[in-house]
Amino acid sequence: MSVTVVGSGNVDLVSQVERIPLPGETVLSTGFATHAGGKGNNQATAAARAGATTTFVGAFGDDDNGARLRESLTGSGVRPLVRTSDEPTGTALITVSATGENAIVVNAGANATLTDLTQEERAAIAGADLVLMQLEIPLATVVAAAEIASGRVVLNAAPAQRLPCELLTHVDLLVVNEHEAALLGGADHLLTVVPALVVTLGAKGALVRTRDTTTEVPGIAVDVVDTTGAGDTFCGALVAALDEHRPLDDAVRFASVAAALSVRRAGAVPAIPTREEIDDFHP
Ligand code: ATP
Repeated sequence: MSVTVVGSGNVDLVSQVERIPLPGETVLSTGFATHAGGKGNNQATAAARAGATTTFVGAFGDDDNGARLRESLTGSGVRPLVRTSDEPTGTALITVSATGENAIVVNAGANATLTDLTQEERAAIAGADLVLMQLEIPLATVVAAAEIASGRVVLNAAPAQRLPCELLTHVDLLVVNEHEAALLGGADHLLTVVPALVVTLGAKGALVRTRDTTTEVPGIAVDVVDTTGAGDTFCGALVAALDEHRPLDDAVRFASVAAALSVRRAGAVPAIPTREEIDDFHP
């Protein structure tokens, strides 16, 4: 049983503010911190902490941020299959309001150089039982990885963008939030191409759809500190549960617990719960 995550790694520069500034406005932060982040890195970390044997395929810069991300991945038990790029490690400028809302600007940096796949990367993708991807690396690489995969392909279509049919036909499970689902034409349309779909609904939980079934998985009420990375924690924990051959509805319930636990803590990677924390949580 194994999971390979192909995706981005960023260092998050996080400012706490009373409220997110409007265009042209400057606000003073009430706190500042840097954390390991990036959707690929976050999701690989979440999968490993949830118990999956996890490899991360990505690209970092030859800089302190890159070293920090490698350290963070290995510290969480992820095997980093990471190439060193001439571009700087990706960064994300994140603003978190007092109510837990966020606004994010991503600088792709090294992530944009992941334009082809090496033999070793191809082998890690082809040999995995589950391949999990997002859309913060070049789309052509996501398509190539989906074509190479022999196990199940799970795509988190974030950040929101239109997708070619050649990609969706290789996807076994699509995970989107409401905004992404709408941009891609809605759940009913998506289910004409992909066999299964999870629509995450923030605090309200998630909707699990196949062509024949709809299951509502209610949200878990927790005190919200920071929702950054909730979706990533959800996706990583979801594939870890699927890798244990849990049925999809059950895997989504497990992912909902992991994601709810993550919003109770600040930051993306620091907030991702361990398997023990997920198993011990009884709402
Ligand atoms: P983000 O971009 O903030 O990481 P997202 O937009 O990709 O998130 P959401 O639908 O907001 O995804 O959240 C993903 C999952 O995280 C939800 O399905 C839910 O299980 C959990 N979650 C998010 N917000 C909350 C919350 N306030 N309370 C409890 N669970 C939450």
